[in-house]
Amino acid sequence: MKKILCLVGDGVGVELIDLSIELLAKIKPLLNTKFEIESIPFGGLAIDKYGHPFPPVVQITAEKADAILLGAIGHPKYDACTIRPEVGLLAIRKALNLYANIRGLTVTKELAKYSPLKPEIITGTDIVIVRELIGGAYFGKKELDENYAVDEMAYDRALIVQIVKYAFELAQSRHKKLLSVDKANVLATSKLWRKIVEEIAPQYPDIEVKHMYVDAFAMELISNPKAYDVVVMENLFGDILSDELAAIAGSLGLLPSGSFGVGGAALYEPAHGSAPDIAGKDLVNPVAMLLSVAMMLRQSFGEEVAATAIEQAISKTMAAGIVTKDLDKNEGVATSIFVTEIYKRLEV
Ligand code: NAD
Repeated sequence: MKKILCLVGDGVGVELIDLSIELLAKIKPLLNTKFEIESIPFGGLAIDKYGHPFPPVVQITAEKADAILLGAIGHPKYDACTIRPEVGLLAIRKALNLYANIRGLTVTKELAKYSPLKPEIITGTDIVIVRELIGGAYFGKKELDENYAVDEMAYDRALIVQIVKYAFELAQSRHKKLLSVDKANVLATSKLWRKIVEEIAPQYPDIEVKHMYVDAFAMELISNPKAYDVVVMENLFGDILSDELAAIAGSLGLLPSGSFGVGGAALYEPAHGSAPDIAGKDLVNPVAMLLSVAMMLRQSFGEEVAATAIEQAISKTMAAGIVTKDLDKNEGVATSIFVTEIYKRLEV
């Protein structure tokens, strides 16, 4: 029996976790693994219940889980709180040592029409962004007063080595190309990053390695996304550019993501936030969340057949022109209708 922990967050995070549990029930005939599912409040909901977005009970349960699903956290009602829901997200990454975040985008001819980019530019894109998740400016020392603010951006060798090796190994399982993105013309952390990539590269002679400055890659990602395979970068750059990746797909609601550590449970979540503006209105695009469930089934449990069935049901539905309103303002359907259409195409 394997344990899936569902972290019930805020906004659309709540409805997306409900949908994930429903999908796991629908896909059951294809599964070899038996699952026990436990749901627990996280983020804003955990502030309401326990007074902290990542209380000890969540950490203890997460450490015992085999995989974790997270909807999304954050809501304006906590904006004035000293500890906001988002603190929970950084804390769980650090506590579980989830150092590698993966977001991928594959664009077929049928799905190219939802991208804001020209079809000839986006069609055939098959790219994965590997983002370092537990270092850099998000975890550095902070200072803030009325007239002065500091965010320390620090990286030590060990953090860089583990993410760079992860990216090389991922490239070996894909098209054997690795791009390392940095700002080595300005930042000391980037100079160390680039040096370490160069040191490690000879251990992976089958991988073609290139470097690019982050500003150049931000432009390349929208002008020539097909040219890239695996792209590795530090935390802040990865946060921004992996959202750009979602934007070129056509919606933040399309991209799944997984965060991985050394052993322990991996955490799967959609690329977007809690979208409080559309929460509870039957408007959320559930694709990113449902693909995160598929990613979990494949990566954490080796359930390839079930993962592929979910992915195919989603792409068949979208290829039939059935999408939510974020992708088609006029013809887009409600979440509930879209999900029903996906289930009709789920071959179980
Ligand atoms: P957001 O991703 O929640 O929303 C940005 C815009 O995209 C909104 O207009 C929203 O309606 C739309 N959108 C997002 N996901 C969608 C989906 N699946 N379907 C349809 N439309 C979708 O980002 P934001 O508005 O900047 O942040 C809202 C809250 O989420 C904040 O509190 C923020 O801190 C938090 N946040 C959480 C996470 C996380 O839990 N991992 C990530 C990013 C932001």
